[in-house]
Amino acid sequence: MDSRMTRRSALVLTGTAAAGTIAAGRPGDQADLQADPQAGPRADLVLHSGVVWTGDGTAEAVAVRGKRVVAVGSDHHVLRWAGDRTRRVDLRGAFVGPGFRDQHTHLITRALTGVGPEAYRPVYKPYDEKEAFESRRRTGQRHVEIHARGETPVDVGAHSPVTEKMKNDLLVMQEEVAKQGVTTVVEAGLRDLGALEALFQLAEEDKLKVRFLVRVAWGCMEEAAKLGWKTGVGNDWVKVLGVKLYSDGWLGPRTSALRRPYADDPYGFPRKGILFLEQERANRDVARARELGFNITTHAIGDRGLKVTLNAYEHNDVSPRDRWAIEHVQVVEDDLLERMIRGGVIASIQLSFATSDQRFAENALGRDRLRHAYRWRDMLRARLPMVGGTDFDIEALDPMWGLQRVVTRTEFDGTPPGGWRPDQRLDVPAAMRLITSRAAFASFEERERGTVEPGNYADLVVLRENPLTIPPDRLAFTTRLMTVVNGRIAAEGPVSYPPTA
Ligand SMILES: [Zn+2]
Repeated sequence: MDSRMTRRSALVLTGTAAAGTIAAGRPGDQADLQADPQAGPRADLVLHSGVVWTGDGTAEAVAVRGKRVVAVGSDHHVLRWAGDRTRRVDLRGAFVGPGFRDQHTHLITRALTGVGPEAYRPVYKPYDEKEAFESRRRTGQRHVEIHARGETPVDVGAHSPVTEKMKNDLLVMQEEVAKQGVTTVVEAGLRDLGALEALFQLAEEDKLKVRFLVRVAWGCMEEAAKLGWKTGVGNDWVKVLGVKLYSDGWLGPRTSALRRPYADDPYGFPRKGILFLEQERANRDVARARELGFNITTHAIGDRGLKVTLNAYEHNDVSPRDRWAIEHVQVVEDDLLERMIRGGVIASIQLSFATSDQRFAENALGRDRLRHAYRWRDMLRARLPMVGGTDFDIEALDPMWGLQRVVTRTEFDGTPPGGWRPDQRLDVPAAMRLITSRAAFASFEERERGTVEPGNYADLVVLRENPLTIPPDRLAFTTRLMTVVNGRIAAEGPVSYPPTA
């Protein structure tokens, strides 16, 4: 546990009665250094009498003017920013943190299927081995077929015409995202540029309330480049983050590419998994993406998929400046970990995989190799740059569900007791940083988002309970009270998503 965030010290505030500031970690966080609130325009929104977790230390209140945070500190200090037109919200002890960011979703892709709002709300279903087995077999079969065509799963791209229905479906989705406290989502491999065009139109019409960062699928990259849609292009609401490549399959169906054969063979697929991206093509694709100005991430689950990806990154002189990433990173021996650290390659992990994959990982990998799998605490301790996400709609979007799973490594049904590979549990502040400040870093936004501090964009989540102090097995029961994005109230609760069967 981070020493600054122990239960006691997190709530201790200094100088509450006097012109006191806060127990924040750095001097830059302190309200004392801010401009005189009486001199200019007042805040539009002041949240006070709560526990404001800046990402580092805590305060009592936060003031927002326009799109940005203007003050963080004690109630006394921050309330000086309030004027006649300011909306004051008495938090009554509620928690405010940086808005949650999800670095790996397929939200836009799901929206394009025209589903209703319930499709985005988390539903807890007890595990059904028979159903899960069949679903893995179908996925694996799909991987075999794609590989037989000499393709990767992200090779096919489209650019459908924008329709009103498409735009409405995207708005239905964003409503649910906002309610859950999520302020920024990354689309991990968009295959239809029509949806990106629709989002740009919606931003123009001022209809967006959460932020969309888009990684186009490899099959869309050339056309996106022709349209000028490359990394960094966009606005406060929609931005192109980069491109997604795809090196291997998944662990459940035994199609992720391993250096040594799987320990079991339930489906009869190739014993070392499926490598979609041969080395030569990987080298070439990475070079092309760099040439066109795209930040790169690559799906790689098995150690062989990872190795090919790292080879390709190194072949193209990857450096920490690039902030290239790898999605999933599930089977990673020390040699690969060291190479990722050297290149500053970001591990993009999925919080809920900490419990979902316990069902099959040991059978697939064997006990020995399991020590090198889902080793997220090892990775953090080794100072590998990391970021968190969900992989919605494979997993629930709700970030609190993911937090509970990654912190307890126990499924909602209580299995396994004591947690799966409990030595790899993350503590709450570390896990929250994966979906706030570290996610901002992975998207080149760490200077202005991902923490609550003066000057930053006001992307905030308000929760009734304090995730830093409640029992970890209650995290998923947290009540969302408010979501603020770019200073605008995107959703108001209370709403919660208790995982009950
Ligand atoms: Zn995914």
